[in-house]
Amino acid sequence: MNYRPDDDAHFVAKKRQYIKRKRKTRTFLIAAFCIAIAVVWVMIIFTVKRLTDAYSPAETTYQTTEAVETTAPPVIQTDSGSFYTDAETETLEISREAINKGSLMLVSDYLGHAAPEKAPTLTTVWGNKSPTYYVASATLGLVNEAFRAADKMFSDYCEEYSNSDYQITMAYSDGSICCAEHATGYAFDVNVYKKDGTSMRLAEAAAEEEMYAWLYENAAKYGFVLRYAADKTGVTGMSHDPDHFRYVGEGHSRYMSENNLALEEYIGTVQKYSYEGEHLLFEYDGASYEVFYVKMPDDAESVAIDIPADVSYTLSGDNISGAIVTLYK
Ligand SMILES: [Zn+2]
Repeated sequence: MNYRPDDDAHFVAKKRQYIKRKRKTRTFLIAAFCIAIAVVWVMIIFTVKRLTDAYSPAETTYQTTEAVETTAPPVIQTDSGSFYTDAETETLEISREAINKGSLMLVSDYLGHAAPEKAPTLTTVWGNKSPTYYVASATLGLVNEAFRAADKMFSDYCEEYSNSDYQITMAYSDGSICCAEHATGYAFDVNVYKKDGTSMRLAEAAAEEEMYAWLYENAAKYGFVLRYAADKTGVTGMSHDPDHFRYVGEGHSRYMSENNLALEEYIGTVQKYSYEGEHLLFEYDGASYEVFYVKMPDDAESVAIDIPADVSYTLSGDNISGAIVTLYK
């Protein structure tokens, strides 16, 4: 056998090449792994930030967390239109229970705000409604405030178009609750039920005949919003639902629709307007509104604030940590 020293050299070179290739591959894999980890982190940070932004509480509400006897009158920075300017005031006591009731309650599985355990007091739609629209089941109910607003809305539509085809298909029902928000009694679903006995999804009917789009265009005037809009799925965590309307109250509904805010975003906005600080002021349909947030201190059972004596007000919890006071005239 011939021994050629070349063979060794050749083998060593090959092996070197092999090791080099292997190193290259390993470096590449490590780099890819690091990049992947970085991307995951960025996504986590981004998601957390978005979630906290959606309902970040006001920076300052109450300095003290003692049982609260309030206290200093509010300092209104935009005082031109405030009801507090030169007003006689009276005391409004807000109890801890107020956090979990009212038309601005945020119920969201996505953000971990469950519906209150206590069932709302309801008005049954069937038997109380005007004959200007249908209801799909005799068991469906709404909180009276929302029922009154819906009844007025459908009656106004019927008067304008001589048409009573809108149908409430879902609201609060003891047996089946299709999504968490129906448990509040402030939400209902709508379709179109025609004289010939056929029914259509609201969005399809609205696309086909202009008059059925009326509800989308006018609901905000009556205190309702389309709760799960196509462009808000990232905020609500719910897919687009063109049937589902939610009562939030007049004024609030107009502000939300004019500013394209989902309820999550609106609550986040309102939480920044504290009692002591600047208040949110707006006007719609001839009414003036002044809105602010009262955060419930951790160890308090109630909070007392002053409100002007000569205006109306509503109170609604956010179902998170406090109550929204709405003054209006
Ligand atoms: Zn629904």
